[in-house]
Amino acid sequence: MLFDTHCHLFDEQFADDVEATIDRAREAGVRYMVVPAVDVASARRAIALAERYEEIYAAVGIHPESLKALSESAFTEVEALASHPKVVAIGEIGLDYYWNVAPREVQKEVFLRQIDIARRVNLPIIIHNRDATEDTVEIIEHHCSGVTGVMHCFTGSIETARRCMKQGFYISYGGPVTFKKAENVRRAALEIPDEFLLVETDSPYLSPHPFRGKRNEPARVSLMVEKLAELRGQTFEAVAQYTLQNGRKLFYKIG
Ligand SMILES: [Zn+2]
Repeated sequence: MLFDTHCHLFDEQFADDVEATIDRAREAGVRYMVVPAVDVASARRAIALAERYEEIYAAVGIHPESLKALSESAFTEVEALASHPKVVAIGEIGLDYYWNVAPREVQKEVFLRQIDIARRVNLPIIIHNRDATEDTVEIIEHHCSGVTGVMHCFTGSIETARRCMKQGFYISYGGPVTFKKAENVRRAALEIPDEFLLVETDSPYLSPHPFRGKRNEPARVSLMVEKLAELRGQTFEAVAQYTLQNGRKLFYKIG
């Protein structure tokens, strides 16, 4: 059984066949899926999916790329939605210095306010970091007491991973760990202790090799497990089992 800890099944790209996509995930052995929101509207869509499908759980939060038309009410809405029984995390939240939709100071403030929400509602956070590693890790080290979470789609160094794990954060690998030229990603993935490793697809984005460029879907999380097993000299079953257990531990509301 597998756990796709990050898939955006509310995305328009699944509008016509979300049912079939979930069926394929089931057939591929995917037991749990976490659907992280990017804003309040997608948080509601993620919750609607979670209400419809037993395997699906939601995360609610405001993504750093969604800061163009952010209203003050978004924070209260995120906090209110977090009490839904199938909302298992606050996310995805974080910093994106690649797209820079909002100034860095605004991004940090929105990130910190959502960490405070996570602390109040006692949920883990799902972190997005693009070109903002130093500030992201600084926030994890100094502003996340009492809050744990996951570094989603991690592509950083083992040194960065170690700083995050030291604060109790999990490291999640997606499509990039399978890419041909991603030796640096694999070098770090090789050294993550079993108890901190998670897998994800980030569907519909970042399809793993050999499906790069195509729409990604949760069934393909098996390719991440396969690659990590090969890399780490473990069996597919072992990696599947401990990544699923880690996911249930982090997203403890799954029960
Ligand atoms: Zn995502």
